[in-house]
Amino acid sequence: MAIWNDILQHVRLQFAPVTRDWFDRLQLGGMSNGVITVVAENIPQVRYLEEHCRRAFADSAQAATGRLVTVRFESAIDLPESAPLSFENDQFGLPLVPDLSFENFITGPCNRMAHAASLAVSQQPGKSYNPLFIHGDVGLGKTHLLQAICQSIQDSSQNHQLLYISCETFSNHFLEAVERGALNQFRYRYRHIDTLVIDDIQFLANRERSQEEFFHTFNTLHQGQRQIVLSADCCPEEIPKLEERLISRFKSGLVTLVDRPCLETRIAIVRAKAKLRGIEMPEDVATLVATRIESNVRELEGALSKIDLFSQTEGATITLPLAMEALGVHPPGRMIAVPDILNLVSKRYNVRPAEILSKRRMRSIVLPRQVSMYLAREMTPLSYEEIGVHFGGRDHTTVMYAHRLIADRCGREPELSASLDDLASTLRNGIHEQT
Ligand code: ADP
Ligand code: MG
Repeated sequence: MAIWNDILQHVRLQFAPVTRDWFDRLQLGGMSNGVITVVAENIPQVRYLEEHCRRAFADSAQAATGRLVTVRFESAIDLPESAPLSFENDQFGLPLVPDLSFENFITGPCNRMAHAASLAVSQQPGKSYNPLFIHGDVGLGKTHLLQAICQSIQDSSQNHQLLYISCETFSNHFLEAVERGALNQFRYRYRHIDTLVIDDIQFLANRERSQEEFFHTFNTLHQGQRQIVLSADCCPEEIPKLEERLISRFKSGLVTLVDRPCLETRIAIVRAKAKLRGIEMPEDVATLVATRIESNVRELEGALSKIDLFSQTEGATITLPLAMEALGVHPPGRMIAVPDILNLVSKRYNVRPAEILSKRRMRSIVLPRQVSMYLAREMTPLSYEEIGVHFGGRDHTTVMYAHRLIADRCGREPELSASLDDLASTLRNGIHEQT
């Protein structure tokens, strides 16, 4: 149904953080008297929807229908008393992906400690760092390390009871147990294991009752010297509304960070990923990809896919010019350097190059400064970090911000966009004298 598709689409776009894979399987139960009924597959889904998605669905339904609507969530099956408890079925663990092994994990200064600790834990679960808490931004290898630990433990000991789950699963199982009066079974299931690995534990934020239960699960396992491994997108103290006693438990073993990889590590990762996928990748292409993409490893992989696909559709082997085209990097007619950009931009905006490089924050200077940074990123092979150095030792995030801001404004301001095109072509043609 068209309206239903519109609603779902709106949710996915505007409320991406709460969107889950299984939203594909939600159904429209009915629409009448300003009430829309959304049917989920089971009660845990309904609970999730009620807890996190009320506004997402109400806003989206309103956007799609143009009317004020109320949204109700219903389960397709009301669990009969005799239905099996979902945590007594052994299939709820996260699937292990063979590629996410220690062998395929590239180490560098950014992740050396997290990697070493993970290895140690996998060799002697419960004996070295307990708990092991790995944190870092998205796409920097936390799940990869957790997966590697699980696979390595499984490979080396047959009878080891290992549970690798998402934090959401834990929380859903707990709520189900409460509702069905099955706390004993739940506790038996979660406390009679050798190793517990939970990804994205920050989802415990704001879930008081799950936190309380997890605290006891944690203590039981920890006292029994069972290994606990956790990952999160921030350090324990920064997880919103996390109980103090949990923070101190999480910090009682080893808390270790996976950081953004430096250029050298990024090059090594690109090489390794290409090899893994059987992509023939010349050195200069690996360097190009690693230089252009600094934020996270998942995006490095995305760039690799783009280049691979491009070479397949073109039926051409991967070369630097092909990779540049695939990534939309414009080859300059000649090498353009930051001073060229400063000279040209300062003339256009009638400021001095030294002012652009200064820390002054007057509007008349800030715009040419941001334009210069944008052009430096677009027209030179320099990384954000390197551009920051050229602009008086600014942080890479400042350059990134300027670049994004100008790109954004160009989309909305044709005049700015035209003037940037003009600056770019002047640079390419090597004419600095123009005013
Ligand atoms: P996170 O869980 O921190 O968001 P992932 O572990 O899912 O990130 O990593 C995203 C992608 O990047 C995965 O495909 C993973 O294999 C890859 N990756 C991240 N760090 C590394 C690394 N150091 N070596 C090899 N691959 C990595
Ligand atoms: Mg992850």
